[in-house]
Amino acid sequence: MSHLKIFGHKSPDTDTVLSPIVYAWYLSEKKNTPAKAYAPGNLNRETEFILKKFKVETPEKIESVTEKDKIIIIDTTNPDELIEGVDKAEIVEIIDHHKLAGGLSTPGPISITVRPVACCATILWRQFKREGNDDIPMEIAGLLLSAVLSDTLKFTSPTTTDEDKEASEELAKIVGVDIDQYCEEMFEAKSDLSGMNEKDVVLIDSKVFDLAGKKIRISVLETTKVENALLMKDGILSAMCNIAKEEMLDGIFFYIVDILKSEATLLVPDKFEIETAQKAHDCEIKDNQAKLPGVVSRKKQIVPNLEKALS
Ligand code: MN
Ligand code: MN
Repeated sequence: MSHLKIFGHKSPDTDTVLSPIVYAWYLSEKKNTPAKAYAPGNLNRETEFILKKFKVETPEKIESVTEKDKIIIIDTTNPDELIEGVDKAEIVEIIDHHKLAGGLSTPGPISITVRPVACCATILWRQFKREGNDDIPMEIAGLLLSAVLSDTLKFTSPTTTDEDKEASEELAKIVGVDIDQYCEEMFEAKSDLSGMNEKDVVLIDSKVFDLAGKKIRISVLETTKVENALLMKDGILSAMCNIAKEEMLDGIFFYIVDILKSEATLLVPDKFEIETAQKAHDCEIKDNQAKLPGVVSRKKQIVPNLEKALS
């Protein structure tokens, strides 16, 4: 029997992998609708750690869909962040918490839920509760909780809302974990860069945006060990230059976010990025590097500032 395919954005982060797994479970178990989650790329180490911790199978990879596929898109509405063929497939539903990028169209009306919370998992948990379906297994609660803690950086991101905090507290009770202790484990897994090359590090969590008509790649590395990334600085800067050339980007920016200190260290490879960053963040740049106190969120801080500077 054919099933709905559920997936999120490329360069998959924890929310974009785990929320589809949870939603596929929910549709299959509670709604009698066969559904399966997929991952549009390699998983990061935080996501791998969480799946292992809760003994949940790694989702199959997906690289494209066709007109035969029925799909649900989670954690983005931006066609640039989606796998090939999404424009041909039948989109059944969208669940997201980002600004509307435009570009997706459907032949008929579909169900769309976009809410200004920090994580898709928060949207899902509230839906389950509203429908009286909050009797969920421990591992499903674990995935939801992990996604919220990841997207909010343990509630330190300015995207965090009361709904995210409330959801986390309720879910942590079901899972039976202490949030502080669990986050330490999660963030340690996230900060492990061993065996990765510089290009991998730059692309762990990376998105391309059209900002004021310029093609800009914005990479973020969330870590508790900034020094590990800075040991690779020269290699990272040259990897950034190579990516910019290959993809014909106008600019590429790499923000190393210190989860514990709530600040970013920005790396910028070239003149255009240096000038743009100075304008965007009102910062001093030395040796292609700047410290940005309080900057942790691409969505709420980085993208709007860069966009303003480029306009
Ligand atoms: Mn995401
Ligand atoms: Mn998300």
